[in-house]
Amino acid sequence: MLSLKNKNYKKLLKLNEKLGHYESILSLLYWDDRVCMNPKAAKYRGQQIAIITEYIHKQKTSKNYGKLIESISPEEYEKYSPEWVNIKWWKFEYERNIKIPPKLITKLSQLIPSSLQAWEQDKKEKKFKHLLPFLKKIIEINREMIEKWGYEEEPYEALVKGYEIDINPKQIEKIFTKLKEKLIPLIKKYKDKTETKTNLKNIKFEKEKLEQFCKYLVKKISNLDIRLDPTSHPFATAISPFDVRITTRYTNIESAIFGTLHELGHAIYDYYLPTDKYFGQPVSSSASLSIHESQSRFFENLIGRSLNFWNYFYDELIKYIPEVKKIKLEEFVKSINRIELQPIRTEADETTYNLHIIMRFNIEREIFNKNIKIQEIPELWNETFKEYFGYYPKDDSEGILQDIHWAESLFGYFPTYTLGNLIAAQIYNTLQNNIKTEEIEKGKFENIINFLKENIYLKGKTYTTQELVEKITNEKINPDHFIKYLEKKLQNI
Ligand SMILES: [Zn+2]
Repeated sequence: MLSLKNKNYKKLLKLNEKLGHYESILSLLYWDDRVCMNPKAAKYRGQQIAIITEYIHKQKTSKNYGKLIESISPEEYEKYSPEWVNIKWWKFEYERNIKIPPKLITKLSQLIPSSLQAWEQDKKEKKFKHLLPFLKKIIEINREMIEKWGYEEEPYEALVKGYEIDINPKQIEKIFTKLKEKLIPLIKKYKDKTETKTNLKNIKFEKEKLEQFCKYLVKKISNLDIRLDPTSHPFATAISPFDVRITTRYTNIESAIFGTLHELGHAIYDYYLPTDKYFGQPVSSSASLSIHESQSRFFENLIGRSLNFWNYFYDELIKYIPEVKKIKLEEFVKSINRIELQPIRTEADETTYNLHIIMRFNIEREIFNKNIKIQEIPELWNETFKEYFGYYPKDDSEGILQDIHWAESLFGYFPTYTLGNLIAAQIYNTLQNNIKTEEIEKGKFENIINFLKENIYLKGKTYTTQELVEKITNEKINPDHFIKYLEKKLQNI
């Protein structure tokens, strides 16, 4: 006979499996919205999404659900067992959810579509104006949520916790300060050296051919059937086990190829997560946003921007885009690694990218810890940018308006990008001691993917970010590996 705790655990499994299917439906609705839907239908799609999101939220905050959650505890199971992981995350999620009154959630979700519209308009007009009242309300709601969630050391911590449970802002500050101290001289030292006459962004191409090359890359690297479609903002999504899809944009060959490689890294991770075995359970989801981002950066940068990689794929690319022949291989590799102190984060190179994130982390922290006024944020942005990059952004579209995150109420999210970069380099360092990375030169990735599968993908959510990094590399997140990797590459190009 099943004990009560086992009975309740089984009930929770069943409920979450059902909600897992609802999540799949949501993912498909989002994918369809961004890839093929007529934009005129946006209002209806918004309602469909709202109905399903609300249903999931209601189920996960219901009295019945709460009773089941409260009746069991992870300690009753072996540490790191699937049961232990599931209960730990169900509890974390439930406790975070019920602290926020439904009214506040509705208020926030109703604000976001208009806030996004205002953001689009302001971006076109290059002036932070229409977004201001919405952002003001969004920040106020976030401050209210912080008070409800509670925190130990500083308010901003409660927001970061939504994405990383075992890394707080103080720890992030320590990592970022060390990183920044080493990045600034590195940029100075190599900036001029990486200047190139040619820019891949100006190479002429046939869109169909470029698309064919990107599809070839996906198959060649992953040996999986991953769908690739065009969108204005590249993304990866896992609809259900075995159904993982990515998108890229064909504005120029550089953004098409690296957009594909980035999203492919996310997709391979999603594909090999144990979602088929543990469908709808936390244990089968990714470890964290930082770990997810480390996998996209791994394929985009560590592999995709290396000379090894292009030693193999350069000739292949010429078959699809003959214009590339004009740029010699060495110049090509230099060009995809050039250092530019330009203002837009999404266009930043691998070396300067993290400066964009460190400044956003510091600004977000000030917004929530020091309660600064909304009107003061653009100036805070511009002054911080000047301090880091040496000049002022020319207008708000190059400043506070460039990212969508704040207009969407995503605060505390930015640091995961840089943590991902650092983790990718740290894991690559360990991987090199185990696997001959010369295989990349032969267009072979099987052993690399198997290493990642064994150490990261199949572990799902069993370990937290720091635990997982430590398990693989024998130390916690350490920015030195990233710096060493960059320096070695920049020296040789
Ligand atoms: Zn990503």
